[in-house]
Amino acid sequence: PLSLVDRVTSLKPSATVEMTERVRAARASGRRILALSSGDPSIDTDPRIIDAAERAMRGGATHYGPAAGLPALREAIALREQARSGTAYDPNDIIVTPGGKFALLTALMALVEAGDEVLVPEPGWVSYGPCVRLCGGTPVPLALLDRLDLEMLERAVTPRTKAVIINSPVNPTGRVLSTEEISGLVEFAVRHDIWIVFDQVYCDLLHSGRFPSPQALPGGRERTFVVDSFSKTFGMTGWRLGALMMPAGLSKAVLKFMQHSVYCVPDFIQLAGIQALSLYDEVVPQYRETFRRRLETAVAGLSKIDGITTSMPSATFYLFPAIAGDDVAVAKRWLDEIDVSSLPGSFFGAPGKGHLRLSLTCPDADLEEALERIARAGLAA
Ligand code: PLP
Repeated sequence: PLSLVDRVTSLKPSATVEMTERVRAARASGRRILALSSGDPSIDTDPRIIDAAERAMRGGATHYGPAAGLPALREAIALREQARSGTAYDPNDIIVTPGGKFALLTALMALVEAGDEVLVPEPGWVSYGPCVRLCGGTPVPLALLDRLDLEMLERAVTPRTKAVIINSPVNPTGRVLSTEEISGLVEFAVRHDIWIVFDQVYCDLLHSGRFPSPQALPGGRERTFVVDSFSKTFGMTGWRLGALMMPAGLSKAVLKFMQHSVYCVPDFIQLAGIQALSLYDEVVPQYRETFRRRLETAVAGLSKIDGITTSMPSATFYLFPAIAGDDVAVAKRWLDEIDVSSLPGSFFGAPGKGHLRLSLTCPDADLEEALERIARAGLAA
């Protein structure tokens, strides 16, 4: 009989996508679910960005474009990265991808051979392990709840370790890795001659402190693949627009994966991306402020509830409160009894069952109502 390969069948479904589907189904059956589970901000794309896409489509930008992306967009991405981290990228070392997720997969496709190990942060985003598996590699968990422990990195490395995936700011905790952690990571990668895949899709949602990145450090630039995205920065999740920045001279080879798979991101979406970057100073501080305000509201509200401990994260729109209870049971109870969706921390590989991930992507009024319902319901059944 015909069968599907292990590479696909052994994958766990995406827990976050599954929860999104459950919320959608509950809403379709008439329930008013207040969603604290989705990584998709309620903020709509700025109308000027939508206009740019429409103009581009009407102007004929509806054909295949260059596989690496439009030169003007790659230049604009290089300028943004220069402003952000001080790292100068030749636009030829940047390729435009359909979202950050595909940038990650493209990097892993280029780096991972069957049998290779890739260190993957836990708690961490749910797609890292599956993407490594899709490339024939083995994900090796790396505990990273409070800080990146260099001794732990040393213990996890083997002769088969090909790369380490690091995400900062971190989904699900909202933490930003410190300069010490990032420079320790680069030294470690140099010492063991392994690649760094650095996922910075939340880097524009920084609420306090600095944002150090490995590509900005000596030794880091030439071994780091940077995963970037328009999704969270500009409220453009559905547009599927991201980028992969890589060490000099590799893009031509890496690009073959794009050429033989999705080929290119539609030109009209890329032209909208250029418009988005031109509006950066105007729109991004506003989004950031919206999320900061929501985080403060949620921290204040949740801190009053028995058994919940949380504090303001340095970045993102996520809270990762510690709870005195079983995360799966609490998330299920809140969804079933008070119509509030959240995600158990253990879905992200957090140790134990003592955390929830709350995503403050819903409108302010929904957040306030969700906090009231949670305060009334509490943790215990
Ligand atoms: N990386 C992290 C840590 C994420 O949380 C997400 C989305 O939730 C992504 C990458 C991918 O985002 P996108 O493919 O929309 O750019």
